[in-house]
Amino acid sequence: MRTDAEHVAARLAAIQARIGAARLEAEPSVRADRVRVVAVTKYLETEQMLELRAAGLELFGENRAQAALAKLEAFATQPPERQPLEWHFIGTLQGNKVRQVVGRFQLIHSVDRLELAEELSREAGNRGLVQPVLLQVNVSGEASKHGFTEDGLTELWPRLRRLEGLRLDGLMGMAAAEGDAGAEFRRLRQLRDRLDPERGQLRELSMGMSGDFGEAVHEGASLVRIGTYLFSEEAGT
Ligand SMILES: *Cc1c(COP(=O)(O)O)cnc(C)c1O
Repeated sequence: MRTDAEHVAARLAAIQARIGAARLEAEPSVRADRVRVVAVTKYLETEQMLELRAAGLELFGENRAQAALAKLEAFATQPPERQPLEWHFIGTLQGNKVRQVVGRFQLIHSVDRLELAEELSREAGNRGLVQPVLLQVNVSGEASKHGFTEDGLTELWPRLRRLEGLRLDGLMGMAAAEGDAGAEFRRLRQLRDRLDPERGQLRELSMGMSGDFGEAVHEGASLVRIGTYLFSEEAGT
């Protein structure tokens, strides 16, 4: 892993060039208004994250609550120019962590079941907060992946959208390692367009990682979650 500003800024520039090209190739009706890079920092210790803002990264994404909260606390004592603009939570969230994460992350990407949505709603409501979230969909259908099924989410959507204390900003999905990532991302976008044809509420599509973010942007991703390619020393994706 290399986390100095020079290396990371060069990788970010390469990612942005690729995103720009993929946006241009995308159908205008599919293209997101803007694509933001979530720097997935789960591989890094806090001390390795201090130059990331200087390299141009603004959003940090973490997948484990305990580690993420420790980093948030450590960053609170850092000068503002080192702090990310936003912390996102992207990993599987256990019910017993709900109290600790509500209100601490600008966006939780990984609401993968009704009970979790209800618990987040209750906790946010108790604290008088509104927690922005994405609903995670298992578009690849793999047993190892979390998330609502497409039919399940369609059925639960009327209930989910009535939950107070949550702001449902969009959908999140992961493609199978082997498979047609583009087709899986397209299904996620089509599901969003069925649930919210005006795109008035579900504006965000969080899809694409180091190996497939080009395909994701081509299919309308507005948030790409990238770790390995930003920080690895190896050339190319
Ligand atoms: C680790 C992780 C990523 C980043 O994956 P890379 O292949 O390292 O870019 C993205 N999303 C989630 C949910 C992750 O856990």
